[in-house]
Amino acid sequence: MRATLIYGAGDVRVEDVPDARLREPTDAVVRVLRSCVCGSDLWPFGSRPASAHGDRMGHEFLGVVEEVGSAVSGLTAGDVVVAPFVWADNTCDFCAEGLQTSCRHGGNWGAPDVDGGQGEAVRVPQAQGTLVRLPVAEDSALLPSLLTLSDVLPTGHHCAVTAGVGPRTTVTVIGDGAVGLSAVLAAKRLGAERILLMGRHADRTDLGREFGATDVVAERGAAGVERVRELTGGDGTHAVLECVGTLPAIETAFGVVRDGGAVSRVGVPQYSEVPMDFGVFLRNVTLTGGVAPARAYIDELLPAVLDGVIQPGKVFDRTVSLDKVADGYRAMADRTALKVLVQP
Ligand SMILES: [Zn+2]
Repeated sequence: MRATLIYGAGDVRVEDVPDARLREPTDAVVRVLRSCVCGSDLWPFGSRPASAHGDRMGHEFLGVVEEVGSAVSGLTAGDVVVAPFVWADNTCDFCAEGLQTSCRHGGNWGAPDVDGGQGEAVRVPQAQGTLVRLPVAEDSALLPSLLTLSDVLPTGHHCAVTAGVGPRTTVTVIGDGAVGLSAVLAAKRLGAERILLMGRHADRTDLGREFGATDVVAERGAAGVERVRELTGGDGTHAVLECVGTLPAIETAFGVVRDGGAVSRVGVPQYSEVPMDFGVFLRNVTLTGGVAPARAYIDELLPAVLDGVIQPGKVFDRTVSLDKVADGYRAMADRTALKVLVQP
């Protein structure tokens, strides 16, 4: 079968790899209908040291079950399923607490000996705990929105939930990428009364307004902080959803959070020290967030996607075939595409 590997910065290739097949009784084999490129894929695409050995890529996919192992129940060949961006048994103590990203028997897609989502098929470990059945046909128009259940929608939701977003909450979302826009959608769905979106790309912030942003702040850094404060009577917002992962973004987050409020970060941090100084201490600001246990949220978010109440698939603004996946990486890296859908 064909699958995507990365060999170094800017070096993404689609190659022949061993076919996905059952190895453990807890496995399933899924033929991929749709996958996509994640903003987090851009970090290795920008900086991975070159090597002779490639790593399999892709952690967001949905597809059709082709085969299930003898220990898997509740799934049969022909089911359309979505996979969260980590696999998990969904039964251990961490999973029971809704922290499938810490599953005692789980792991990452594309790890050694594990397939990635950007390919024709995937061997799914812990299939019963990992895969979620979708009541749709293989050609459903909802596939792009359903695919966001893999990562960006639950990640945006996790960001909003951990920051305590609810009715009467004011929110700042930092970042107009797919996760930031999903965080806007999640905050709106949770009833936030005001959502300020910080982003500079008009086409993206326009989608953010459609998703529920009430204000757009294009300024960055100190000017951005000042603008958010102006818009909020000098106070900042109760919740700040940091969906970028850079040091300037987290600094902005502490600049725009209201005293007693919470900063939640879901952007993969590209910094090692969090700038929580004495001033932040005096203001009783909480830092929360982290990698989203997507599996914990899929059941809750699925009905709104199926009913069309939310249309998170609008974040996909380009589709490529699997053989053109490198073009998709480039388009996202140079910001000519927001999020790229891959159709094998
Ligand atoms: Zn578990």
